[in-house]
Amino acid sequence: MTVEIVVLGAGYGGAAAIDSLEGELGDNEDVSLTWISNEDYHFLLHESHRLIREASVREEITVPIEEIITEETNFVQGEVTDIDVDDRTIGLAADSSIEYDLLVVCLGSKTAFFGIDGLEEHALTLKSLEDAMAISERIRAAADDATEGEPAQVLVGGAGLTGIQTAGEIAAYRSEADAPIDVYLIERSETIFPGHDHEFQGAIRNKLEDHDVDIRTNTVISAVDDSTVELESGDEMDYDVLIWAGGITGQDALGLADLPKDHNRVYTGATLETDDDRVFALGDTALMDQDEQESPLSEEAIWEAIVDPDVGNQAPPTAEAAMEAGEVLGENVARKLRGEELIHWTYTDKGTLVSVGDEAIAHGVLGVPINTFSGPAARTLKKAISARWLAKISGPRRVLRAWSDM
Ligand SMILES: Cc1cc2nc3c(=O)[nH]c(=O)nc-3n(C[C@H](O)[C@H](O)[C@H](O)COP(=O)(O)OP(=O)(O)OC[C@H]3O[C@@H](n4cnc5c(N)ncnc54)[C@H](O)[C@@H]3O)c2cc1C
Repeated sequence: MTVEIVVLGAGYGGAAAIDSLEGELGDNEDVSLTWISNEDYHFLLHESHRLIREASVREEITVPIEEIITEETNFVQGEVTDIDVDDRTIGLAADSSIEYDLLVVCLGSKTAFFGIDGLEEHALTLKSLEDAMAISERIRAAADDATEGEPAQVLVGGAGLTGIQTAGEIAAYRSEADAPIDVYLIERSETIFPGHDHEFQGAIRNKLEDHDVDIRTNTVISAVDDSTVELESGDEMDYDVLIWAGGITGQDALGLADLPKDHNRVYTGATLETDDDRVFALGDTALMDQDEQESPLSEEAIWEAIVDPDVGNQAPPTAEAAMEAGEVLGENVARKLRGEELIHWTYTDKGTLVSVGDEAIAHGVLGVPINTFSGPAARTLKKAISARWLAKISGPRRVLRAWSDM
């Protein structure tokens, strides 16, 4: 009997999972592979902020699904509305459903609003191609309506990867277009990029300030209406465009799924298996445990155990972690089908790169003796990471086309 394997989501986790499953199971005629996502392309979300300044980047950061899959893989475009792990069915918005024997959930995350009054209603978010285009349009319209004396007020809430790079991109657009815009980056913590290395935080702050981004840390948004942000301090800030990048939460599609989860993000073990042994999950959609059990380790886990024996409990919600986990997924599904013990995956932190307009800052890059650096080396490294990913899921032709725009 054919084993139906279904992968949900075409982000980094889903694309890496498909790639590794095709590699492991490609010639297995007893297996059928179906990939479901709401768009018929893979979107490089970690580059999405660049669309705010330059719409032509769109071609380079959206990869059509047919460029990724082999002929044997079925692709279904559809919005997943629910997952029934008892019936082993996926509900789709068009009132149809798809059955599975093994399921891999890679639905990513959505923006969290933390119950802040009026925030969801009034703020723009950045989680998709449409979101990036909407921000771009709103920024341009606000700049058109503004004057040198009364510049457009653009507020970005949340100074993590999304907020920092969005604020940097808007500031770079302002310089290029000579547009009358004030850019603010608002963060509730004491520092931008909370939880990261101090030297790295300082280098990013300097770059943002060089680009005239007004950084407000220790600043908590408590309510929002259609033109004003109210702060916990009692102060108010007027805005023309408000972008919220303050955190992530799980997708609604997981709301009814009978799986252990927190805010719709599903818990998995280090094998990427959930509580249900027919369901795997990875990427932002999952809280992927990093354990230290005695078991076969993946190559990356062995390396991580050497370089960082105190690795934390859960992998971070990043593109890098989703890609790494997706690479291991194929092997674990193949092992499961053969009745073998699954390997344990551990996230390997290969370093972090953050862009501020055309510049980049790198930190903790594996094999590089300098902790934090910027300049052409960091910029080239950032391009190389996207190029390596495009080469893996598509091929060298796409990389050649994309390189000059990256
Ligand atoms: C502006 C920005 C900059 C970032 N910069 C970095 C960075 O520099 N480095 C880094 O490592 N990370 C970065 N990140 C984070 C990174 O993009 C995410 O961690 C990563 O995308 C997670 O991958 P994923 O596969 O889990 O989810 P996603 O990439 O979000 O993919 C989810 C997929 O599921 C599909 N989907 C969602 N819901 C449904 C549904 N109901 N039905 C059907 N399909 C659905 C989506 O269309 C998508 O294909 C950045 C994020 C943003 C927004």
